[in-house]
Parts: sequence; structure tokens; C-alpha cells
Amino acid sequence: MTSEVYPVIKTGGLADVSAALPAALRTNGYDARILMPGYPAVLAAAKEAEVVYEDANLFEGGPARILAASITGIDVPTYVLESKGLFGRNGNPYVDAQGLGWSDNHLRFGALSWAGATLGLGLDPTFVPDIVHAHDWQAALAPAHLFFAGSARPRTLITIHNLAYQGWFPKHVFPHLGLPAAAFHVDGLEFHDGVSFMKGGLYYSDRIGTVSKTYAQEIQGREQGYGLEGLLSHRKRDLVGIVNGVDYGVWEPSRDPHVPARYDVRSIDKKLASKRTLQQRFGLEVDDDAPLFGLVSRLTWHKGIDLVVQAVPTIVEQRAQLALLGSGDPTYEYGLSKAQADHPGRIAVQLGYDEALSHLVQAGADVILVPSRLEPCGLTQMYALRYGSLPLVRRTGGLADTVVNADPEALLSGRATGFVFEHATAEALSGTIAWACRNWQDRAQWRRMQRTAMAQDFGWAHAAKKYIEVYEGLR
Ligand code: ADP
Repeated sequence: MTSEVYPVIKTGGLADVSAALPAALRTNGYDARILMPGYPAVLAAAKEAEVVYEDANLFEGGPARILAASITGIDVPTYVLESKGLFGRNGNPYVDAQGLGWSDNHLRFGALSWAGATLGLGLDPTFVPDIVHAHDWQAALAPAHLFFAGSARPRTLITIHNLAYQGWFPKHVFPHLGLPAAAFHVDGLEFHDGVSFMKGGLYYSDRIGTVSKTYAQEIQGREQGYGLEGLLSHRKRDLVGIVNGVDYGVWEPSRDPHVPARYDVRSIDKKLASKRTLQQRFGLEVDDDAPLFGLVSRLTWHKGIDLVVQAVPTIVEQRAQLALLGSGDPTYEYGLSKAQADHPGRIAVQLGYDEALSHLVQAGADVILVPSRLEPCGLTQMYALRYGSLPLVRRTGGLADTVVNADPEALLSGRATGFVFEHATAEALSGTIAWACRNWQDRAQWRRMQRTAMAQDFGWAHAAKKYIEVYEGLR
């Protein structure tokens, strides 16, 4: 159960996982299916839809249906919760044009959660699942519904993709969610005199997953626990961290249609064509010798974008370059645009969301920056590894679990794949950028690191096996 599935609807890494994990499970012989909301883009891509359920007024949104559909672009049978009132609107799935949460989000995702629980209990007699796997707060109330459904119910797992987003609402929404009164309790989904969807999921799920081992530890502490650290450390025996896989069908430089000259670990020289194209596309000086830092991200405080703005002088001093693709917080958009105006040819920014261009940045950069304050798993550093673009990351969450710092020992043993810094400060980031630039001068060593990076395997086969272990344990 998920709110986003690549390539039909995506605001972040959740969409990538929601597409790849069920597909990998099916490859392993499991009948995995998706449930997602019927956003306009989803309905437009739906074919062969069969009606499984109809309701005249579901969660106050008017007529609704659950369709068993096949969706162009998604290789997994998909149930779609269709409701014009709840999901028939364009724009961002969670926030309105002003950036505020849609005022009926509790109903929209209350309905999604209810639909998942109801399918779990056998609404479609041709598919009665053993496991309901809810992703993030949007689906988090399904385990709560199922907890109260008696013993003949599927087992439940919730995966936290980012605990900073919890789906909190004032308590007056509770009677609209279709849950028994007992659920509104501190031992339940009550949180700060309101309703937390995420807390409901964490409290009532049989197991809890998150997207890296380090993040599974971090969320048990105050800094990253967002008030749920007590509950999470109480349930730590049920908590498992599994790093997301990468879809190498989409992210592979030897097959990537967006890469001007495709390359693999045996032909890394050809990567230079991507660098030159990237420099041209971004209006940077075409300069083979300048270390080119790339960044593809939502522009938010969590992603450490303010640190990047502050590190611009270092990038310029080092005669390096920055190609940044992102959109988000207007403050950072302004700061980055100003840096571009101040340093033409050295700092370049493309504001917006552009899937094709994100591939070119991955392929053309020498280094991919991921200076996140908070990064449950992170995908861009794993793409970077496969593209031989050495990741420069902060030691947090999945970044800590996937990048091996180029310290002397790791360099000597040939394990180093990137550059890692500890503290979320501009000094630490700038110092590490300068250090990466010094490393760049030793091209033979750089090439060794690239080879090690490109040989890393974060494919879904591995992650899917870990999920299967969890599912089988639950069953
Ligand atoms: P999060 O889910 O927190 O945004 P992840 O690293 O897990 O971070 O996933 C981000 C995904 O979104 C990656 O696939 C990345 O390439 C993509 N992405 C982020 N910003 C952009 C953008 N401006 N244009 C294209 N793709 C983007």
C-alpha cells in the first residue's frame, strides 16, 4: 500500500521503492500487488480495470470504487482507489498550490488505509493476502484497522521512509477515520492531543521496517525520533532496517538512453562525454580538469541545501564546478540562483523536476553531493556509485550504510567509494569538498575508487530477499 509509484506518480524515493519492491517479489514467485490512490495520472494510465468494490460516499468524498487494474508503466497488478472527491485533483498529491497540506488529507489517506485493510480481509476473493505492507503515514492506518479485525487477518508490516512526515491531525478528525474508539489512546494513535497516522501504524503493526540499519538506530533517539523514539525503542525487537534497492533497469550507465556515450566499468573514459554534455547543458565552462560536483535533490533543510549554498566559495576557490538540479524551498532557490549569477560558468542551477536531466547529472558529475541532515536511505548516492560519480555524503542514515569513506585504510584496502563527513556544518562540507578536490589530482587513485564504486551491487534482488525473510517470519 503506497501513495506513489514510479513512473506514474512520484515526489520522492518512496515511488521508486513502491515500483521495484513488488516487482522483485513477483520475480521471486510471490503474488505481490499494489494498492494506490487514483490520482488523475494513475487513472489516465489505467487499462483493463475491473470493479472490485463500489461505494456511494466513501470517507465523505462522494462515489468511490476500488479497481483491479493494470497500469501502463507499472509491471505489477494494481488496485486503484478511485474517488473523484478525494483524489481527482491535479498538482502535488499532498499539498495545495500554497504548499499547505490538503485540508481533507485525513479523509484521503484514511480512505486509502481503510481500503488496504479491507482488501487485506478478502474484499477481492481472488486475492486474499497473507501480508499487508503499508508504506509511510499515508497507508499507516491499515495496520490499525487490521489490529481490531480479530485473529483471522493478514499480518502487517509498516515501512517508515521518513519519520519527519507523520500525518498529524487535530483530534476532531478521529471520528471520521472509521476506527474503534479504543484506538484514540496514548497506547494507540493519539499524539500531542491529536491523531498521528504514523504513530498508529507503528503502534499496531506486527512489524516495523525502515530503509537502512543506521536510520533504524537513529529513530530510536531524540534527534531523529520526532517524539516517537520512545515507542520505537520499546518496539526495537520488531524493528528492522533494510536498505532500498536500486532499479538497475533504469539506473545503469551502459544502458541509459540519457547518457550521450554509454559506459561501464571497463570503459570509464567514455564518461567524459557525459561531463562535457552536462557542462554544456548547464552553461558551465567545458573544462575536463575541473572537478564537477553534481546534486539532484528536493531543496529542503533536511537535505542540507543551506550548507551547499555556504560551500559555494570553496567550490569556486578550488576551481571546481557545481551542476545542481532541484526544486523546493524558495529561499534556497534564491540563494542558489544568486550563486549562479555571481559565478557564471562555475555554478549552475536548474530549478525544477526533470527525470531525464537527473540521469545526465549522475553520469556527467565527478562527485555527487548528498549533504543531508536526515537521510533514511537515500537513492542518489547509490545511483552515483553505479555511474562512477563518487558520492560525497554526510554520515547519517542510509548514506552511512552505503558509502565507504576514502580514509587511508579504505584506500589501501581498495574499499573506498566516496567521501564522508560527520557534522552538518558548512565548515565540514567545505572541508570535505576541498579534500575531494585534492583526491581528484591523483587520477589513478580516483579511477580505482570509481571501479570499486561501480562494482557495488545495491540491486533489488538483495533487498527483496530481506523483505521475504520478514514476510515469511510474519506468516
Ligand atoms: P527523497 O525521497 O527524500 O526525496 P531519495 O534520495 O530517496 O530522497 O529519492 C529522491 C529521488 O527523486 C531520486 O530518484 C532522485 O533522482 C529524484 N529527484 C529528486 N529531485 C529531483 C529533480 N529535481 N529532478 C529529477 N529527479 C529528482
